[in-house]
Amino acid sequence: MQANHRNVIILGSGPAGLTAAIYTARANLRPLLIEGLEFGGQLYTTTDVENFPGFPEGIMGPELIDRMRAQAERFGAELQRGEATELDLSKAPFKVTSSSGESFTCEALIVATGASPKQLGVPNELELRGRGVSTCATCDGAFYREQEVAVVGGGDTALEEALFLTRFASKVYVIHRRDELRASKILRDRGFANDKIEFVWFSEVKEFIGDDKTGLTAVRLIDNRSGEERDLEVPGCFIAIGHDPNSEVLRKWPIRLDDQGYVAPEGHHIPFTEIDGVFVAGDLHDHHYRQAITAAGNGCKAAIDAERYLEATQG
Ligand code: NAP
Repeated sequence: MQANHRNVIILGSGPAGLTAAIYTARANLRPLLIEGLEFGGQLYTTTDVENFPGFPEGIMGPELIDRMRAQAERFGAELQRGEATELDLSKAPFKVTSSSGESFTCEALIVATGASPKQLGVPNELELRGRGVSTCATCDGAFYREQEVAVVGGGDTALEEALFLTRFASKVYVIHRRDELRASKILRDRGFANDKIEFVWFSEVKEFIGDDKTGLTAVRLIDNRSGEERDLEVPGCFIAIGHDPNSEVLRKWPIRLDDQGYVAPEGHHIPFTEIDGVFVAGDLHDHHYRQAITAAGNGCKAAIDAERYLEATQG
């Protein structure tokens, strides 16, 4: 086998990619996993994971990922930093170019590149990123001890972020564009019961106020019923409004994507794609469940189908 040729390459190091690595490594396929820009994906920026089976006391997201990684490496998976910047899927062996500068070929490819936090698209959002505007309470929450902060969104992620932030902040405003939360009942109930959380209904962010020197000083809100504007003075604001799939690298290949960019098969079922030997797993196709456990299950399916594909084509 040539130095840069692999049986299987896996893109992505969230639960889907790492589970695929565990299974293909155990099947002696010596997979190469290219981690992606953020090792561990979304779980790496999550706090307590209370619903992953086998951890009755809960487990921290990064620890769960680190354990999956250790398990994959124990069976011989090779993990490499960087992200796949280009794919050539015109015929097998497929070619993967990595941001590390290296190119690899492989007989089977498992794409588990997941999804990334959505942005609001309002003025100063990018300029103040890392200076008060964040998408990760786990990463940045501790900066706001005894200060007031805001979270934007009304789903599970927003509520989880808000609840986590109450460990540090003196008050957490949850800014939501409706007066009904999308979050699951357990998180809704915890949010309503927490004295530090105040909901700001029917409100949208118009812009972030601040500059390089001051960082974020306020969030300009607009009431979407009256059109009234006001500034909520907070040094930290966490955006938690959902995710966009990381499917850019697939766009030029005949793999069907839906209008949001998620892999959306027609006439076959996941993990298979329109290209024989290319499989997908995790949030890249699943915008319905989006759980660590379902992503891991999908990674397992992709690995087993890749293994069977290799058996059938390579003998
Ligand atoms: P989500 O369920 O899609 O919720 C996104 C929230 O952001 C919604 O409340 C939405 O408002 C709001 N929003 C979207 N675009 C907006 C915009 N441009 N401006 C203002 N608000 C905007 O996303 P998520 O909370 O990230 O959750 C994704 C999935 O992961 C869900 O299936 C969730 O159950 C799952 N998840 C589970 C857990 C857990 O079980 N512990 C934890 C985190 C996530 P509207 O409600 O008005 O649409």
